[in-house]
Amino acid sequence: MCVSGEQIYIPAYLPAKAFDGSSWALVLYNKKLLMRKSDSKFNIPEVKELDGIITDDKSMEYIGIYDGHDCYCKRLKEEHELPENLELVELMQITNRSGDAGLFLLAGTANHILHWNSMNQYCGYCGNKTLDKKDERAKICPNCNNIVYPRISPATITAVFHEDKILLAHNHNFREGLYSLIAGYVEPGESLEQCVEREIQEEVGIKVKNIRYFNSQPWSFPDSLMMAFTAEYESGDIMVDNCEIIDAAWYSADNLPEIPSTDSIAGKIIRWYRDQSACL
Ligand SMILES: [Zn+2]
Repeated sequence: MCVSGEQIYIPAYLPAKAFDGSSWALVLYNKKLLMRKSDSKFNIPEVKELDGIITDDKSMEYIGIYDGHDCYCKRLKEEHELPENLELVELMQITNRSGDAGLFLLAGTANHILHWNSMNQYCGYCGNKTLDKKDERAKICPNCNNIVYPRISPATITAVFHEDKILLAHNHNFREGLYSLIAGYVEPGESLEQCVEREIQEEVGIKVKNIRYFNSQPWSFPDSLMMAFTAEYESGDIMVDNCEIIDAAWYSADNLPEIPSTDSIAGKIIRWYRDQSACL
């Protein structure tokens, strides 16, 4: 069970009760989620509000219960004409528009499952069409019995501290002026701690010590699990790789550059550091 803000999301692959019009429908199109707007507040529409877009549950994936609502998801292949009270909202704008960070994570889960579903329609070993496994969230190949579970790609993200400062870096994919923590995918054969050490050494050229687990968060765009750590500077001068990272520096809590929103674990950790520093 995961608690998102004040709401509770219980992931599940099978519904406890039959699909009906009161179920929530998470409908994705490109990198947007279909949301209902009422009194300038955005929320997830119910199935019965989506006449012509949803006809039955056959083309939908069940992803669990959010705040007591059964949740189904589906990806549209083409644009539909929408009633006035429905709008496609950018995934990264869901928290802003709804005021509920849990809905952003819920939409991410829908994105993850739909991505996995569409990528595994055929067996990677023999090319046969796969089937949904009945007793768990998985695909099974009826020809060679290959089973494919949803892929989750582990990644580490680390807040490195040196005296009272935090290391922040600008990735070449970021918009101008935005700085964040060092992150990267875990490689086969590597522990999480080794991943932290390697990523920091590769991207900014310094060694760290006292690596401590901090927190984790699914980042389902399309299938990462971010595991956050803190670490202390040990040695070396900052030397960016000029490949992923094009600038990095030590920042004090009262002089931070633009940082990610609280939708991301990086945004949460950097604010935690800022708030801790303010208490000292
Ligand atoms: Zn097969």
